[in-house]
Amino acid sequence: MMSNPNRVLRSWVDVSPDSDFSIHNIPFGIGRPPGSTPRLFTAIGQYAADLQVLAEHGFFDDLDIDRAIFSSSTLNPFIALGREKTRAVRQRLIDILDDDLDEWDASQLKEFFLLPQTKVSMLLPLQIGDYTDFYSSREHATNVGAMFRDPQNALLPNWLHLPVAYHGRASSIVVSGTPIRRPQGQTMPDGASSPQFGPSRLLDFELEMAFVIGRENAMGHPVSTADAEDYIFGLVLFNDWSARDIQRWEYQPLGPFLSKNFASTISPWVVTLDALEPFRCTSPEPEIAPLPYLQYTGNRNFDIQLEVALQTASGAPHTICRSNFRYLYWNMSQQLAHHTINGCPLRIGDLCASGTISGPNNESYGSMLELTWRGTQPIQLPDGSERRFLHDGDTVIMRGFAQKEGIRVGFGEARGTLIPALQ
Ligand code: CA
Repeated sequence: MMSNPNRVLRSWVDVSPDSDFSIHNIPFGIGRPPGSTPRLFTAIGQYAADLQVLAEHGFFDDLDIDRAIFSSSTLNPFIALGREKTRAVRQRLIDILDDDLDEWDASQLKEFFLLPQTKVSMLLPLQIGDYTDFYSSREHATNVGAMFRDPQNALLPNWLHLPVAYHGRASSIVVSGTPIRRPQGQTMPDGASSPQFGPSRLLDFELEMAFVIGRENAMGHPVSTADAEDYIFGLVLFNDWSARDIQRWEYQPLGPFLSKNFASTISPWVVTLDALEPFRCTSPEPEIAPLPYLQYTGNRNFDIQLEVALQTASGAPHTICRSNFRYLYWNMSQQLAHHTINGCPLRIGDLCASGTISGPNNESYGSMLELTWRGTQPIQLPDGSERRFLHDGDTVIMRGFAQKEGIRVGFGEARGTLIPALQ
C-alpha cells in the first residue's frame, strides 16, 4: 500500500525547507563515492544515500531483489525490475529516512550510508538507447514559427493535431556539469552567396524536461493514453543545446541534425512519477479535439516550476527565464501514445524530451532565440554585459521544483559551461 501522498513527512536527516530533496522526493541516480565504484544513490537534503551499502546490510532483502542491482553503473537494470519493485524500494527508503523510524538508532545509521552530495560524483544515470525530442509547447512553436516563417500562420497545419517530434541522438547526452564545446559547422549568413564554415555564432539553450521509459512495449503494439504512465519511470531536466545558425541552414526538409546532436545536458537525479503525484494538474484546453487515440482522461500534466540562470565567466548566476512544465499543450501520455501508435517499440532507458517549454509572457520563454527575439532585444546582465546568444565561458543552469502545502519535490540542476570551439 502506498502511504497518503499528501501527508507531510519529516526525515531525521536535516532537510532545509527549500531543499529539492525532501523525504517526499527520493529520486534515483548513479554516483561514485571517492575512490570507489559507481552505484545507485538517492538524495535527501544535502546528502546522497548509498543504496549499495544499504543492500549489503540487507535492507532490501525481503523485496526479493538481487543485491548486485544496486551496484550497477546505470539505472537500467533497476528500472527493469518494474514499477512494483522500484516503488517498494522507494517506500523502503522513505521508511528508513522517516523520523518515525524507531527500530534503529538514527545517529548511527547516518554514519554508514549517507555522504555529503559534494563528495559524490554524479554520473549519467541511464544507458540511453534512443532519444526523441518533442515540440509540445504551443507558445514556443508559435514564437519560432513567427520568427522563421509567417507571424500570421506561425503553427504548421499538423501542430494542433499531433505532438510533433524528431528522433535525436542519444550518444551526446551528458550529465550536468559536463563542459559543452561550441560546435563548428556550415552556415549561410544573411547576405552571403555561399555557405561558410566555422564555430557556431548563435549558440542557444532550450529549457526542456525529459521522461525516462520504464517499461517496454512489443514492436507492433501501441500504448494507449490510459496506460502511458505505466511506461514512464520518471523525469529529469533537459537542456537541448542548439546552434541556431547551423539549424537555420540545414533543417529543411528533414528537421534538425548537426545543430542539435553535439550535446544535450540532463540533471543527474531521476524523479519518479510517484514523487510528482501531489502536483498533477490540468493541461491547456485543446483548441481542436484530437483524434481518439490522443484523447485521455484525468489530469496528465504536472505543475513544475522551471527556471534558467545564466552565469558569465566573471559574473554571478542571473535568472533569465521562469517557466512551468504545465504550459505544455501535449502531455506525456499523449506524446507516448503518439510515439507508439505506429507500433514503434520503446526500450527501458530511452528518453523523450518535451521540447522547449515556453510560457505566455516574454519572461517565460525557454530559449535565447525567443528571449532576445532572434537577437534583436539583447538580455542585459548585472555585470553590465549583454547577450544575444551564448558566449564561451557562459554557464547555463536549469532548475525545477514542485511545491505545495509544505511538500517540495525538486530536480536539482542541469548545468553546463560553454568552452571554445576546436580550431
Ligand atoms: Ca528541442
